[in-house]
Amino acid sequence: MGAHILVVEDEEKLARFVELELLHEGYEVSKTANGRDALKMAVAGKYDLILLDIMLPGLNGLEVLRRLQQDKPTPVILLTARDAVMDKVSGLDAGAADYITKPFAIEELLARIRVALKLHAKAAFSTAEKPQEKGVYHWQKLSLSEKSHQVMWDNHEILLTNREFQMLKILLENVDIVLSRDALLDKVCGFDYVGETNVVDVYIRFLRSKIDEVFGVKMIQTVRGVGYVIKSEK
Ligand code: CA
Repeated sequence: MGAHILVVEDEEKLARFVELELLHEGYEVSKTANGRDALKMAVAGKYDLILLDIMLPGLNGLEVLRRLQQDKPTPVILLTARDAVMDKVSGLDAGAADYITKPFAIEELLARIRVALKLHAKAAFSTAEKPQEKGVYHWQKLSLSEKSHQVMWDNHEILLTNREFQMLKILLENVDIVLSRDALLDKVCGFDYVGETNVVDVYIRFLRSKIDEVFGVKMIQTVRGVGYVIKSEK
């Protein structure tokens, strides 16, 4: 049996058409027309891919996607109405693998499904190669666990405020990528934060005083005029 695809679409004719085409291609297909049911099915079931319409009864597709991303990495292709640019942008921001604009040629949808499935299989493989626990980041003797909200240096716990923790997590998620003060500010304080970007410098200073100075390392590096980075150990 091929990959199992969940089709979430309230236009009955379109849903039926897509279902038949997918079955013809050898995929296994489940279908629902309601956003709330889609979320339940997606969380409970094992799907390889979800085709998700945005305008849905119950719960809209973007909301389904957002909630789903919190606990499942199933790839999602959004079905958007023509020219709904905002939907596309927020959809990709919310973690959609791809989107396709209605009306679409079935060949194009099938091609995008193949690509998304292939990319996802590759990503799953590369994370499987690393036996790292999900949500745990390491740098030298430091480890940060998202789940327990704990930062350790060897056996010593480092006590951080929530914002310091978020800042450190973002830097560890992006090892070797220089993050600008603006980017850090957006991610730690949220887009609606109106304030000075030097707030970032203040948190970096706190982090350095709790980590670098205590353990004699240079973990967070300043890239002059650009921002901050944690470099991988080579
Ligand atoms: Ca719809």
